Amino acid sequence: MSGIRPLRMVSVAAIGATAGYSACHYWNTTFFQFSTVHAESPPSDAQAALKKMVWKGFTELKLEKAEMVNHNVRRLTFALPDDQSITGVSPITSLLTRHTPEGGFIPVFRPYTPVSANDQPGYVTFMVKKYPNGKGSGKMHSLKPGDSMLFKPLHEFDYKPNEYSAMTFVAGGSGITPIYQLTRAILDNPEDKTKIALVYANNSEEDILLKNEFDDLAQKFPDRFNRTYVVSKTTPENEGTYQKGYITKAILSQVMPHKLNERNVKVLVSGPPPMIEAVAGAKGGFGWTQGSLGGILGELGYNKEEVHKF
Ligand SMILES: Cc1cc2nc3c(=O)[nH]c(=O)nc-3n(C[C@H](O)[C@H](O)[C@H](O)COP(=O)(O)OP(=O)(O)OC[C@H]3O[C@@H](n4cnc5c(N)ncnc54)[C@H](O)[C@@H]3O)c2cc1C
Repeated sequence: MSGIRPLRMVSVAAIGATAGYSACHYWNTTFFQFSTVHAESPPSDAQAALKKMVWKGFTELKLEKAEMVNHNVRRLTFALPDDQSITGVSPITSLLTRHTPEGGFIPVFRPYTPVSANDQPGYVTFMVKKYPNGKGSGKMHSLKPGDSMLFKPLHEFDYKPNEYSAMTFVAGGSGITPIYQLTRAILDNPEDKTKIALVYANNSEEDILLKNEFDDLAQKFPDRFNRTYVVSKTTPENEGTYQKGYITKAILSQVMPHKLNERNVKVLVSGPPPMIEAVAGAKGGFGWTQGSLGGILGELGYNKEEVHKF
């Protein structure tokens, strides 16, 4: 990754010459920040050099590398303006992409959630699942290293350490990415005592994203984090390894025993609309509002304030 850094100043100048005003402003600002950092003597503490991105409207980032992680999910790594830049966003924040399809004139906006840490210097990484004829995911899967995409932070959910004593995360498919961002932020903070139970549903074992990462967290924080994988199509080899089928009331009651004697809980539900509807009731306003609480969580006695649907 560091091998392409020296080229960046050259490409910055080239883009500055041809792009519109906002891109010019952005890259020129970046150029001067870049020069300043390198003109100073190196900081004693590498962390001291880190600087949060200044997000003003949409920012252009270049794809540095990409790889398929399974049959329909691509991991994409975009370069931040320089080695000391971090996205600096707080959990849970996605980055809203914008592009105009070729031959069209109506821009397409889709959020994707970084799976790299928000204080990771130099780059930001996403995992994007491709949908047939998907406008946003199709674009993200078509990008080649060196291509650019426009991004803007989109804050989804406010989290304050220790705000809840226990949280349950119910995720399906690529809906896991915002959940991963928050899980890491909570567990990486030694001051935060929140306990987390994750229930993560997928079609097959191959579709489980970030499994190694979640398994590592479960090993590292056995008292604070447990995870349950639910797989609808098991194979003879992995039969018994996963909960088979779909997310049920029995599975959720098993991982959420704290509900019985604690009110200070929060449940986040993130995934495809049919899963959200089954677990917590459909969202309202064509997906823009939370809608009323229903589904399994409604049956289990949760109230609207205790549940957030993505
Ligand atoms: C807060 C937030 C964070 C997100 N983060 C990520 C992320 O990190 N990675 C990621 O891959 N996605 C993520 N998404 C989903 C992403 O924003 C898009 O909705 C997804 O890529 C589909 O968009 P599209 O333009 O490709 O498909 P569209 O052009 O909108 O739809 C194409 C077809 O796919 C179907 N479809 C669309 N979305 C879904 C779905 N969720 N489940 C089942 N069928 C669907 C449609 O019904 C349609 O038939 C996130 C969504 C939200 C709200």
